[in-house]
Amino acid sequence: MTKSRAESRPTTTDDLENFKMYIGGKFVDAETGRTFTTENPYLGEPWARVPDCAAADVDAAVASARKAFAGEWGSTTGFERARLLRRLGDLIGENAERLARLEVRDNGKLYREMIGQAQYLPQWYYYYAGLADKVEGRAIPSDRPNFLVYTRREPVGVVAAITPWNSPLLLLTFKLAVGLAAGCTFVIKPSEHSPASTLALAEIIDQVGFPAGTVNIVTGLDRSVGEHLASHRGVDKVAFTGSTETGRAVARAAVGNLNKVTLELGGKSPQIVFPDADLAAAANGLVAGVFAATGQTCMAGSRLIVHQDVHDELIGLVAERAAAIKLGDPNDEATEMGPVANRPQYEKVLSYLQKAKDEGATVASGGVASAELGGLFIEPTVFTGVTAESTIVREEVFGPVLAAYTFSTEEEALALANDSQFGLAGAIWTKDVHRAHRVAAKLRAGSIWINAYRVVAPNVPFGGFGDSGLGRENGIDAVNEYTESKSIWVELSGQTRDPFKLG
Ligand code: NAD
Repeated sequence: MTKSRAESRPTTTDDLENFKMYIGGKFVDAETGRTFTTENPYLGEPWARVPDCAAADVDAAVASARKAFAGEWGSTTGFERARLLRRLGDLIGENAERLARLEVRDNGKLYREMIGQAQYLPQWYYYYAGLADKVEGRAIPSDRPNFLVYTRREPVGVVAAITPWNSPLLLLTFKLAVGLAAGCTFVIKPSEHSPASTLALAEIIDQVGFPAGTVNIVTGLDRSVGEHLASHRGVDKVAFTGSTETGRAVARAAVGNLNKVTLELGGKSPQIVFPDADLAAAANGLVAGVFAATGQTCMAGSRLIVHQDVHDELIGLVAERAAAIKLGDPNDEATEMGPVANRPQYEKVLSYLQKAKDEGATVASGGVASAELGGLFIEPTVFTGVTAESTIVREEVFGPVLAAYTFSTEEEALALANDSQFGLAGAIWTKDVHRAHRVAAKLRAGSIWINAYRVVAPNVPFGGFGDSGLGRENGIDAVNEYTESKSIWVELSGQTRDPFKLG
């Protein structure tokens, strides 16, 4: 049921917007014709219909990516890839408004956040366009006179990119921009909860002029679609962002095929506040860390580890700000916190609120669903009186919930901060420059902010220690995750050598 490019744009046949998958440069339905709908979490209504693919569609997408890799895209120069990446960046910038609105509709995140993200995405494509023509090998001085030795960095091949629902395009871009720069081809599978913006990106990719099959996008309701893709023998690398539990399954599948794999997983990131900190700034950073995006970010600063002398004052500031956060329509520029993105996640957050109370935590703010708004709203919540053993301290909630506990010495603060299976991010709030860098060096996490929170950029590596993941996205070195190194030895003397000796 392949459609031509001209017929491809999403159409509105009823009150639902319709999307298609993108395989081999064509906009297609699932082979079976099956579809599923995705829900607008603010309105609590289905709003989009997308293809519900099966294993055969994934197979077709992988075959198409393989063909492009072996064919036209595989012989494209870095200069040409750079040109196409710049064009892709330009077109994403021009379409930022539409892409942001789609994400708001699909996952209920704020328009003011998603438009900022969508307008920033081109920077990733421009940054890696700058790298595409500089993926260089090295000439290695040989340890014997009769050899010329050099290395090449070659694209790893077909990449399976599997993404979560919270920031679909940003987290895809972390993979796609660098992977295309390296010369890889892609099969992308967005989350079943928020596939629309990724399918809309296909329209933009289609306009850029990549060879057919360079980028393919499949969607499916059942998690077996991702499973099939992650374990596919035709894939050379898996780039995954999602939960730690799924990440383990993805890693097992990738290792089963001896594939390269990068995993960006969950977190339980600490914010350490020392007594000399600017408490107003720290309170603002705590709000940014755990209430922005309704706490649905992997880097949520959900553990507040605060010096006992400033605990009460800081909790007062945070609780006051939390109580004043304006909940409502995510499209409204004045709204500060939208709903939770989907019902299973909403139920999960509520169960954590209950568990924290059952374990004796004190509610300093929130602690309940926000009933008067209807929909999937939860009040920004601050718990105090928790311990390092509390469930709310140990497990990722992925919602607007802060858990606060105290320390008295720097060593204790560090021990508490590092007492976690995760290690994605963290913050240090202090005016003491010596202490700031000393503590930053000892924190076991991939990103540390000093007197700030939740800042990312294309040129700065991002990823986690421990259960927060494997490998790094962003920055120059990320290209190594999408390339293989090849060493080439050239014999120069033309003489015959002893075949029974090494070297
Ligand atoms: P999830 O793990 O449930 O799903 C992520 C993706 O994997 C989805 O596309 C899903 O369909 C797919 N999938 C499900 N089962 C699979 C399997 N067996 N094999 C392959 N793919 C499979 O995660 P989610 O609920 O969509 O997202 C929330 C989680 O993502 C949170 O834990 C959060 O911390 C994490 N996250 C991490 C980062 C980061 O960069 N570290 C960023 C955002 C979100």
